[in-house]
Amino acid sequence: MTYAIRKVGVVGAGVMGAAIAAHLANVGIPSLLVDIVPSGETTDRNRIARTGLEKTLKARPASFYSQRSAQLITIGNIEDDLDKLADVDWIIEAVVERLDIKHALYEKIESVLSPTTIISSNTSGLPAHQLTEGRSERFRNHFLITHFFNPVRYMRLLELVPTAQTDPELLHFMQQFGSEVLGKGVVICKDTPNFIANRLGVYGFMSTMHHALAEGYTVSEVDMILGPNMGRPKSAVFRTSDLSGLDTLQHVGDNLYQNAPDDEQRATFLMPEIVREIIKKGWLGEKSGQGFYKRIKGPTGESIILELNLQSLEYEPQPKHRFDSIGAARKQDSIEQRIVTLLNGNDRASQLARETTADALIYAAKRVPEIADDIVSIDNAMRWGFNFELGSFELWDILLTHPETLQKVLAGRELPPLVKEVQTQGQGTFYREIEGKKHYFDLSSKSYQPLSGMKQTISLTTVKKKATNVVRDNGSAALVDLGDGIGCLEFHTKMNSIDEGIIELLHYAVQEGSRQFRALVIGNEAPDYSAGANLLLVLMGARQGAWEMLNGAINGLQQAHQLLKYSPIPVVAAPAGRALGGGCELIMHCNHTRALAESYIGLVETGVGLVPAGGGCKELLLRQGASAEKAAKKGGPFTPARKAFEIIAVATVSSSAVEAQELRFLRKTDAITLNRDLLLYDAKDDALKLAEAREAGKWQPPQPELLLLPGSGARLVLEQQVEGMLLTGKVSEHDAVIGKHLAHVLTGGNCSPITPVSEQYVLDLEREAFLSLCGMEKTQQRIEALLNTGKPLRN
Ligand code: NAD
Repeated sequence: MTYAIRKVGVVGAGVMGAAIAAHLANVGIPSLLVDIVPSGETTDRNRIARTGLEKTLKARPASFYSQRSAQLITIGNIEDDLDKLADVDWIIEAVVERLDIKHALYEKIESVLSPTTIISSNTSGLPAHQLTEGRSERFRNHFLITHFFNPVRYMRLLELVPTAQTDPELLHFMQQFGSEVLGKGVVICKDTPNFIANRLGVYGFMSTMHHALAEGYTVSEVDMILGPNMGRPKSAVFRTSDLSGLDTLQHVGDNLYQNAPDDEQRATFLMPEIVREIIKKGWLGEKSGQGFYKRIKGPTGESIILELNLQSLEYEPQPKHRFDSIGAARKQDSIEQRIVTLLNGNDRASQLARETTADALIYAAKRVPEIADDIVSIDNAMRWGFNFELGSFELWDILLTHPETLQKVLAGRELPPLVKEVQTQGQGTFYREIEGKKHYFDLSSKSYQPLSGMKQTISLTTVKKKATNVVRDNGSAALVDLGDGIGCLEFHTKMNSIDEGIIELLHYAVQEGSRQFRALVIGNEAPDYSAGANLLLVLMGARQGAWEMLNGAINGLQQAHQLLKYSPIPVVAAPAGRALGGGCELIMHCNHTRALAESYIGLVETGVGLVPAGGGCKELLLRQGASAEKAAKKGGPFTPARKAFEIIAVATVSSSAVEAQELRFLRKTDAITLNRDLLLYDAKDDALKLAEAREAGKWQPPQPELLLLPGSGARLVLEQQVEGMLLTGKVSEHDAVIGKHLAHVLTGGNCSPITPVSEQYVLDLEREAFLSLCGMEKTQQRIEALLNTGKPLRN
């Protein structure tokens, strides 16, 4: 049978249910969110569901891409609205983790279930086969576990657990729906206790806690040792536990202890006694305000994070830790070298890294095929579920290719059978590159098989491995042939900041590339699209008074953006993550954008004492309605200038691609992709469609635009607003200076409010204001502070 999801019923409006409904709304799917009727309540029967939705609306980081999509959620209660569940395509149950409650609920649901409705549970630990006990065959055929992680919007992993009766077509459909529509990294699990990610992740946390307590490592020491230098997030072990909730961790640990009786490491799952005591005190982590860490206010109101002394259970200041091995690891370029350096050191940090790595890797290798048939599912679950840079078997491969390190880590412990197998029957590692493609060791066929994954992905790294695909690479950026006549301009500077090399290649890509290609994509595979202009070069130029050089560089950027805008072939931007300052300006000059849903786009120049000068002011004005035609027809030239001013003056950054559309950094017609792995493929597809339209005479480059700007009268109004904010202490003196320069640009300097101006006229105003601000000491201090500390300075 064919499945489709157009409307969903979410049962249970707690932390997970309400956030799942929010994420469905993010992708435009309406849902009915129901919870129980509060006991004794006669009038406000939907109160619990409403409160759940309200909490999700206030959640930080935000659950919704845009608060507006909350309208897609209807609230209700399981008694009055049970019948309505007959009209949905998918019912997802996210009620409390109790088998008896879930059973009773399924019985009720079955009485109204329509023959084609998909039903799933969000349980984190109850076995699928127990959940469906007592249910009809039809129910069982349409049932599976869909295990989302918290926070639903941001955590990439979605574990799917079918039972023996689940319709294989349904599993296939949900896999596709989860990855393509919801943007998740989908892993199919076996019906074993706590599935894959929590089984391995919680084992790793618990084993580390036992080591820390037995060997006297402090909370902050552990997090420093097992953080980014081991390919883990900064929150590492104890901070991550605080974020998940210590009670949740204990609950999963206890569940594993009870339900995995044959696990050789079962005892590790028992929470250490001292941590149980902490939990009894109600110190559960972030949700209760304190756990392994506690945030307090210092004497001058600053935030101080104390750590819990695991012996005395007192909170203490965190000392600065110094370990030679970590110092040496930090100097390495790649994650592989950092891990090897840390594992090879001779201090306590290396000791803990070795012990916990041995524990985790041996445990993972012994869980195959118990919890998964292939190593790829395990690696994906660890990367997507815990934001690890490397999965367990990718880490094994690092050890297997560094035999001395492997010996040190094992410290006499035996290699698990699976690893011996890959040594004797494979080629010594779990993964191999064959003809430029990553292959994994398949345990059933004992051979290397290509990573299947989704077909619709493009890996620039793989494409670039064939030298003839790289049309040009100047060290800052590359023009790459994606096939089918589509070129891809990829930035690869640090944080993809825009330097002379990128500007040079932008010119080249449009002028020369347009002879070779039918359309261009500007995209990359980094977590952030572009951090904007290279501020170090701006600061150096300003400090040396090299005004001509700076003027030339900005002009070069402006002209590169103009070339993009009027390119004879279509240009598609493909941003993901942060696209700030120059990165945002670049997008706004492309004909079309295919953005990742998690795109944080904004003109943030005022934060470093500047104004956008790569055409950002001009483009935002146009998008707010300042084109001569629109402004004349609708409300005149002041509104667009004021709106652009309000957005740029406070360096607004969108919290999603949808919000970027509301702010008009993106157009309504720009497209959004949920799954990072699909972004470049989708962008290329858009580029192909535009190329075809061009070839059929249905697409032409835009015509140059004229702007109607309000002139000096409007500038005075905006300046008065700035003065008001200065007087009330809302902005600093230098903020006010920047605000006035911005007002000058956006209102068109001394132009007449009835005579349209050219794009170049606004670009000249942008450049003048930028250079003038660059000459100011306070702007230079702001740039320097950002470069040194990564944080903005308000001076
Ligand atoms: P929660 O306690 O925040 O919310 C549960 C909700 O279910 C409550 O609002 C409760 O009133 C409601 N409920 C109870 N019985 C009900 C019934 N018969 N009909 C309708 N509603 C009912 O719990 P949660 O954290 O959202 O967890 C929900 C499920 O998701 C659990 O199975 C849990 O194991 C799983 N899960 C939780 C997390 C997490 O981090 N919180 C992560 C993954 C999975």
